[in-house]
Amino acid sequence: MSLEPLPIAEIGEPILRQPAATVTREQISTPQFQAFVDRLIATMRHADGAGIAAPQVFEPLRVCVLEVRDNPRYPYKPNIPLTVLVNPTLSPRGEAQFENYEGCLSVPNLRGVVSRHAEIDVTAWDRHGTPWKRHVKGITAGTFQHEVDHLDGKLFVDRVHDPHSLCTWANFKRHRETEFRRQVERIVARYGS
Ligand code: ZN
Repeated sequence: MSLEPLPIAEIGEPILRQPAATVTREQISTPQFQAFVDRLIATMRHADGAGIAAPQVFEPLRVCVLEVRDNPRYPYKPNIPLTVLVNPTLSPRGEAQFENYEGCLSVPNLRGVVSRHAEIDVTAWDRHGTPWKRHVKGITAGTFQHEVDHLDGKLFVDRVHDPHSLCTWANFKRHRETEFRRQVERIVARYGS
């Protein structure tokens, strides 16, 4: 099964700044919705994303998908099994935060440092409307927060507190990756993901 990837909205598209609409039970059970989820997954995989949210493909719905399998864009990210979140809500567990170097399929060739909660509780539906709940930690928790931000019309650049951290992907590799990988190792040692 090889589905055509959908076009990706880039920063400046108004849809990336609009809160997405809650998905109803009626919508979930339609073949159209299920086909959309398949294409969202195909688009994420085609672009080597760690995740993608529906507004990034011009669909203003509260749906995002995540998956990391030895990702070439993010070689230091712990793996995440394919996860589909419908109407997700996140709540931080504890006060701990960490600094995450993020990038985004909708913000081409730019990365920057963002503070993320180190531990979160996630509640959502899966793609069939079955309730889904997880305690998510570390780097993986950062990925979940990035994707759910998209459903609220937020991009990682909104959360970059030090603009000096902004860099292209080539300059991240050249100047920042070694130090950031050390930080990731510490986070993974502490939180296991
Ligand atoms: Zn993104």
